[in-house]
Amino acid sequence: MRVVLLGAPGSGKGTQAKRLVAKYGIPQISTGDLLREAVAVGSALGKEAKSYMDGGDLVPDSTVLGMVEERLRQDDCKSGYILDGFPRNTAQAEALDRMLGSLSMSLTVALSIDIPFEDLMKRLTGRRTCKSCEQMYNVYFTPSQKENACDKCSGELFQRDDDKEETIKKRLDVYSAQTALLIGYYHKKGILKSVVGTGNIDDIFKNICDIFDSK
Ligand code: AMP
Repeated sequence: MRVVLLGAPGSGKGTQAKRLVAKYGIPQISTGDLLREAVAVGSALGKEAKSYMDGGDLVPDSTVLGMVEERLRQDDCKSGYILDGFPRNTAQAEALDRMLGSLSMSLTVALSIDIPFEDLMKRLTGRRTCKSCEQMYNVYFTPSQKENACDKCSGELFQRDDDKEETIKKRLDVYSAQTALLIGYYHKKGILKSVVGTGNIDDIFKNICDIFDSK
């Protein structure tokens, strides 16, 4: 199963991707996570990416493409992968097609998780992550029992730099202007499937699995 997960920031892509990894045993390739790791270790790539990320802009395609290709060449991607947060614009989608063609790894499905735009702001501004175990919470929908402490490990909760309100607005603008076009791109290729991303997380997961299992 070779998958592109599409959806606005806050659509729940990352959460569903983690569950899919556990069920299907294929890796999640999140360009956002790879970039945050590069920023955390202070690599040259991370230093370049940080200012774009903090401003809610896309990191240049050349940087992201190299990173994805290197990841796709690793052995664990031979039986499939879930691309999460990549591609983000048409140029990246076209480059991905070329890359996958040369690796003989073409996509099985592009799955879009659809959420009304109004819901995204609360999902994003409310998001908190545990510093120790990375468990995610949302102060509006799924708060931890004690303010700012993880229910699982008591670790401190933090808000991602790019989940601050002004950056979120920019990220959603970038999504509307660039990433939303990919729905049409994959529809034309005949590999687009969609699920409604609001409601119970287990139900959304089941709907996604039904699509995967029919492939
Ligand atoms: P995410 O966690 O996927 O929302 O990504 C967080 C930030 O990382 C984005 O706002 C971008 O600055 C950057 N980023 C992640 N994926 C990409 C990508 N495919 N192309 C360019 N920038 C990206």
